[in-house]
Amino acid sequence: MIKANSIKEVMDRADIIDIVGSFLRVKKRGANYIGNCPFHNEKTPSFYVSPSKGIFKCFGCGKAGNVVTFVQEHEKLTYPEAIKWLADYYKIKLEETDRLPEQIAQQQAGETLRIINEYAANFYQDTLFKQEEGQMIGMAYLKQRGLRENIIQLFRLGYAPLQADYFCKAAIAKGYNAGILLKAGLVKERQGGIFNDNYRERIIFPIQSLSGRVVGFGARVIKNTDHAPKYINTPENELYQKSKILYGLYQSRNAIGKLDECLLVEGYMDVISLHQAGVQNVVASSGTSLTEDQLRLIARLTKNLVILYDGDNAGIKAALRGLDMALSQSFNVQLVLLPKGEDPDSFVQKNGSDAFYQYVKENKEDVIGFRMRIGVAEVGNDPVKKSKLVNEIAETISLVNKAEDFSLQAHYIKKASALLDVEEAGLVQLINQIIRNRVDKERKSPQAAPLPPSETPTIDPPALPQSPLKSEYEYEWQLLRVLAEYGSEMYNDTQTVASFIHAEVEPEFIKDTLVKELYTHYVEKLVTENTFLDVAYYLQHSNPAVATKMASLLIARQEISPNWSKKYGIDSTPASIISKNDVDSTYTYYQLKKTIALQKETLEKLKTITDPVVITKMMAYFQELRALEKELAQKHETVVYKSNRY
Ligand code: ZN
Repeated sequence: MIKANSIKEVMDRADIIDIVGSFLRVKKRGANYIGNCPFHNEKTPSFYVSPSKGIFKCFGCGKAGNVVTFVQEHEKLTYPEAIKWLADYYKIKLEETDRLPEQIAQQQAGETLRIINEYAANFYQDTLFKQEEGQMIGMAYLKQRGLRENIIQLFRLGYAPLQADYFCKAAIAKGYNAGILLKAGLVKERQGGIFNDNYRERIIFPIQSLSGRVVGFGARVIKNTDHAPKYINTPENELYQKSKILYGLYQSRNAIGKLDECLLVEGYMDVISLHQAGVQNVVASSGTSLTEDQLRLIARLTKNLVILYDGDNAGIKAALRGLDMALSQSFNVQLVLLPKGEDPDSFVQKNGSDAFYQYVKENKEDVIGFRMRIGVAEVGNDPVKKSKLVNEIAETISLVNKAEDFSLQAHYIKKASALLDVEEAGLVQLINQIIRNRVDKERKSPQAAPLPPSETPTIDPPALPQSPLKSEYEYEWQLLRVLAEYGSEMYNDTQTVASFIHAEVEPEFIKDTLVKELYTHYVEKLVTENTFLDVAYYLQHSNPAVATKMASLLIARQEISPNWSKKYGIDSTPASIISKNDVDSTYTYYQLKKTIALQKETLEKLKTITDPVVITKMMAYFQELRALEKELAQKHETVVYKSNRY
């Protein structure tokens, strides 16, 4: 864990314009900077950065947050990773809390491997670009394969010469010990404790993690010979775990997010060649079947996966094995068969990126359709084989079973019943049977997964009367924003905004559990320490959801306020009036809620009372509440009025 004071140092230092500006071009407009959003495709800028508040917001796609959220989103990192990224950028040394000895040992091993990998990647790159053999053999080969220098640099390709100890000698002279070089797969041991290079006369493909670290290497022979394998890869170690790696993810991460689609191909060269042609949302699985970890990596960027394959390619068979898992994780998986004799590399080099995307678009087939097409062709008229196929397809469709996948499943069922010539109702029954069996099995197994939520009986908390308000949660967040913005200002002669709200708004009236928690914490700080938590506190909140929400509310207001002056013809509304209105409108919402709750309570009591005098009194009180509610609702323009809510 990174220590809190280190996080604070990073936050104090990080300048949002500085960081955003290093990824995209922004122009100053008024108090803000604007630019084209890096998270969605657009031609007119709707991406705003406010340097004074340290926040950004896109009015196109809605993404918003502070400098850490920006780095997280842009570089696809977790919160601690983003803090480390920023610390790296500003050369700040992070302090970390104590960890277990084995954690330290493992991290140190990983760290050493990372350093040696970085050294090796640079070494091989230099050899390719600066040494005669690198130029004559390595570069000549890459150019003959159609690659240009900028793309060779982007993927950090390198060259390992023929000489048996070329790298080894240099690395040992540099002080790296042979054991770690061995572990990194860069050298191999010959008899008598003599070490040789593992990669010789090969093109080096550094394999990078999502955050750009070199975790291992792939090395391809240049001259095809019978006795040498075409590719050699780094052996599994603390850093390189094949099941967790997708080649090209680092270079493709932004395009995948922007296009909301990930193309999967088989080879390193396919990825690089597609990139060069402008198809930049592509990764390679390196011939293994897709693993859960790889899917998790992709899921951070998109849920749309398109697998490209050619007819006689064994790699795709392997990839297909991972598809059931992808379906059950709500991926939308599609397959594209390339024309005969082509791989992605040759296809795009011949036809260019427009034709490539066009081809993909026209030839996408969903995975269930694909299986059915292949299956139906194989089965022919054999009834036994056909019934087996129906079962297999039903099994596959049953995996598409999350609530949000409902319409997708219905689509597959329709399609399958038509293609397989079976009745839809029968197919649905079969699928449900398979799901039931699976649930039963999971329930019986010792490490049974928790029951799906729909099967767990839940008791709703006693509810307030149905709220007549539009988007309740929005109002609740506004309350928090008002506190953060004006909490310490005076509301009237005797009270600050914070103490006024504290006296008037009970936490029970807040439905959103997160807001309730934040509100309770605000009040606690106010009462015990007389501290007003401010905007900065929420923008730097360790829960990124809080920072994002707050940033989004703040920028929305900043953009609205000038409109007010236009709308109401007031040129310069004094800040104090704006804040008073803001507080009142937020507070009115809670008054309304309270009134409605009281009405409900009164009606409940009325049911049990028989004394006519009391009944008359209570009815009068009820009428008063109704009148108050009406008045409040009028004052609070945005309220949607619904009369039958008890
Ligand atoms: Zn956007």
